[in-house]
Amino acid sequence: MSISRHPVYAVIIGKDGPMLTDRYGRTIEYLRLSVTDRCDLRCAYCIPQGFKGFEEPAHWLDFDELERLLTVFARLGLRRVRLTGGEPLLRRGIAELAGRIAAIPGIADLSLSTNATRLAPMAARLKQAGVQRLNVSLDSLDPDTVSRLNGRPVLAAVLAGLDAADAAGFAPIKINMVVMRENAHEVERMVEFCLARGYVLRLIELMPMGETARRMGYVDLQPIKRRLQARYGLIDTVLPGGGPARYLGSPDGRFTVGFITPLSQHFCATCNRVRLTVDGQLHLCLGQDDRVDLRALIRAGASDAELATVLHQAVLRKPERHEFRERPEKLVRFMNMTGG
Ligand code: SAM
Repeated sequence: MSISRHPVYAVIIGKDGPMLTDRYGRTIEYLRLSVTDRCDLRCAYCIPQGFKGFEEPAHWLDFDELERLLTVFARLGLRRVRLTGGEPLLRRGIAELAGRIAAIPGIADLSLSTNATRLAPMAARLKQAGVQRLNVSLDSLDPDTVSRLNGRPVLAAVLAGLDAADAAGFAPIKINMVVMRENAHEVERMVEFCLARGYVLRLIELMPMGETARRMGYVDLQPIKRRLQARYGLIDTVLPGGGPARYLGSPDGRFTVGFITPLSQHFCATCNRVRLTVDGQLHLCLGQDDRVDLRALIRAGASDAELATVLHQAVLRKPERHEFRERPEKLVRFMNMTGG
């Protein structure tokens, strides 16, 4: 690999040509791939009750289209893929898709985000298919709060899913907790749960995606971070994964907690990712509306070279940063539509 100077930014040249680099010198090597916009939960901050605006199945990229697109992407430096949604375990054949993606040359890291309600019967198959890492969403350990916040009484199913994931050998499992006014008092309880089970906890600030999220009570994670640091004597640490979390760990290495703080301390300067929706729209930034219609291109018969050119051009449109703070009203998309 060599580095050549471009008039405005450095371009990294891989063995198949220039890698995907944006106008701010960020190399894009991570794709969040939404395989469905549907979900079996109705989290109070995500899909509204009664929501009807799901994508038509005819618009979903099929597995052949996805495999081809990701193969082109991987030649341009894509190294990490996260399967997400909606709820990715609702997409029929998800383990087969995972296997096909894991086999693409260049893709070194395949992970999946799930609410785990259907994980118990699927964990072992996903592991065999090549999913290396799992993130499980869990906002509360109180059954009533789960029912209220996540829209269904699923705590027992999620815990069974976690047991199955442990048994299948996923480690370390990351627990994603969106911290809001309704569950902020449960952070320490979640820390103890993750400590006991050997999970990495990731605390996430609520992003103003759609009116559902804006209605909920945003909580700044910085004071919580200071509180946990003092109580557990945590020190800065780094975890592999390519995501935006900043981690603190216990000095004995037994416990790690990550903070995803898009509002109180954004991480756009090091953003290395783009997102693909179930209907083939490439979003350059979770917090902006700009997108490129790859489905239209693929279905119009674009060649691999044409797709590669469009990917390069798309990445050049990646904005410098989101505007969650300055323009919280801006995004009408719910998280399930872009992929969390
Ligand atoms: N269904 C899968 C899951 O539960 O992990 C994947 C998709 S879900 C949209 C991904 C993550 O986004 C979940 O942890 C969810 O809690 C989080 N999320 C959804 N809306 C959010 C928002 N407005 N702000 C922050 N996180 C959000």
